[in-house]
Amino acid sequence: MSLGADARIVIIGCGISGIAAAHRLIKAGFNHVRILEATGRSGGRIKTGKFGDNIVEIGANWIHGPSKENPVFCLAQQYGLLSPEALTPENQAMDVGGHPPWISSVFTSTGRKMSLDDLSPAVEMYKELLDESTQFLERGEPWPSVGQFIRAEVLQRSAEKWKADNAGCLQRCMFTTLLKVECCICGSHTLDDLGLGASGLYKSIPGLDCTFPGGYEGLVRNLMSELPAGVVSYNQPVSCIHWNNSDKRDAQVNVECHGGKVVAADHVIVTVPLGYLKKHHTSLFRPPLPLHKIHSIQRFGFGTNNKIFVEFDSPWWDEDCEVIYFVWEDDDTMVDQVEDVPGSWIKKLVGFTVVKPSERYGHILCGWIAGKESHYMETLSEQEVMYAITQLVRRFTGNPIITPRKIMRSQWFHDPWTCGSYSYPSRGCSLQDIENLMEPVPSKQTLSQPLQVLFAGEATHPSYFSTVHGALLTGWREADRLLAHYSPAARSEQPTKSKL
Ligand SMILES: Cc1cc2nc3c(=O)[nH]c(=O)nc-3n(C[C@H](O)[C@H](O)[C@H](O)COP(=O)(O)OP(=O)(O)OC[C@H]3O[C@@H](n4cnc5c(N)ncnc54)[C@H](O)[C@@H]3O)c2cc1C
Repeated sequence: MSLGADARIVIIGCGISGIAAAHRLIKAGFNHVRILEATGRSGGRIKTGKFGDNIVEIGANWIHGPSKENPVFCLAQQYGLLSPEALTPENQAMDVGGHPPWISSVFTSTGRKMSLDDLSPAVEMYKELLDESTQFLERGEPWPSVGQFIRAEVLQRSAEKWKADNAGCLQRCMFTTLLKVECCICGSHTLDDLGLGASGLYKSIPGLDCTFPGGYEGLVRNLMSELPAGVVSYNQPVSCIHWNNSDKRDAQVNVECHGGKVVAADHVIVTVPLGYLKKHHTSLFRPPLPLHKIHSIQRFGFGTNNKIFVEFDSPWWDEDCEVIYFVWEDDDTMVDQVEDVPGSWIKKLVGFTVVKPSERYGHILCGWIAGKESHYMETLSEQEVMYAITQLVRRFTGNPIITPRKIMRSQWFHDPWTCGSYSYPSRGCSLQDIENLMEPVPSKQTLSQPLQVLFAGEATHPSYFSTVHGALLTGWREADRLLAHYSPAARSEQPTKSKL
């Protein structure tokens, strides 16, 4: 029998990190593991929904870096959830550095259709600069943010290459679009918020990004089917974690739910999103978290990236097209945020990915929009969003009669249990912030009972933050921390600690 068999473990949140932690602990023989989940479902930001007769991903879309190094890929392969193409050695060996080489088309605000080749000077320079921007982790930052670095370098490098003529102007307009695309990828409002040195913390894994043909939630279903029935209590939002025996009940940690129900625990693993922690850490912990941890919660970035699915009767894009970019020909400012958000929020929508295969999906595009413009989009009615999209598509295609059949959008910022989409390293952040985020409380330096509250979730992974595989690994990491704590070797070494 495991030494931890009787330890009462409460996991807060039934996203992939919470599920992964429960899975590992239960497999290791812990008998008293319980997940408290605020909503009525498992999966958190892995959320497969219905759009008419089709399934679409409202949250996580791809396995980033599907190869043997990626535990999500390995599990998906084991459960038989991937297409044969995704499993080929060629796909696994491709190193795309987080930017798959998709077949793209560009439409401009005067209704011109261009190929990416026409804009290759901007695209090539952009790739070069993005790659360079990840190299400042150890050698000091010339600028505080990726946005400032890229803008300064473009102005310098393009002065000779791109004359102050129309062609040069168009390249700079393309740059404006590419900066907005990057906001969607990293989840920040603007690249001026993305720390230059810290952006190098993110590591990509080899493999050509792939999707789950039957939906990402298949992964969640398979993992959940291996947990004992009743391990999750749904619709059970936690309102306060009383640690260090602060409410003077029997247990070291007492987890209070909305409505007053209290669950006693020896250890709690908190997996709620960083967005939720930013908003609620003051009321969620009694006593409050240590100051350095609070500062890192405040400093590390958490942003919004939303999707807008749009269905058309027939395609207005090429058959092989995978991505459509929109370029505003009157915007060569290389500024990735919109000044008048209520009036011009739609300018932040960078374009669409084509939802494939069309034999199954018909003609569905997925629009991407990040930042505060995305927050504003969430407040509009579906009709208002549909109207804005219709005007945009008509203008950029030069076709005044194209009309979407229907739309559906995500609203991650206003989701009360997520408060945004995913984390990013903001200006002034360092690895120390992630280490502070993942550090259990009380810290080792105190004489209190250790490992009362542990922290998992995507924002606590030092190099795979913002991803599903990062989140999964943090769940395993915190489970392993408890396994190590209850291992025979660790037990024999532990001095008896007095309770504070
Ligand atoms: C639009 C979008 C696109 C994305 N695309 C990708 C992608 O293509 N590839 C990729 O790898 N990643 C992607 N991600 C990121 C990925 O979805 C997340 O990193 C991952 O799912 C996070 O898992 P988690 O367990 O850390 O958090 P979550 O999945 O958010 O789980 C946390 C859980 O805690 C619950 N909770 C919150 N507060 C409380 C409370 N007080 N009490 C009880 N429960 C609570 C929540 O309801 C939730 O179920 C995307 C995310 C979004 C939003």
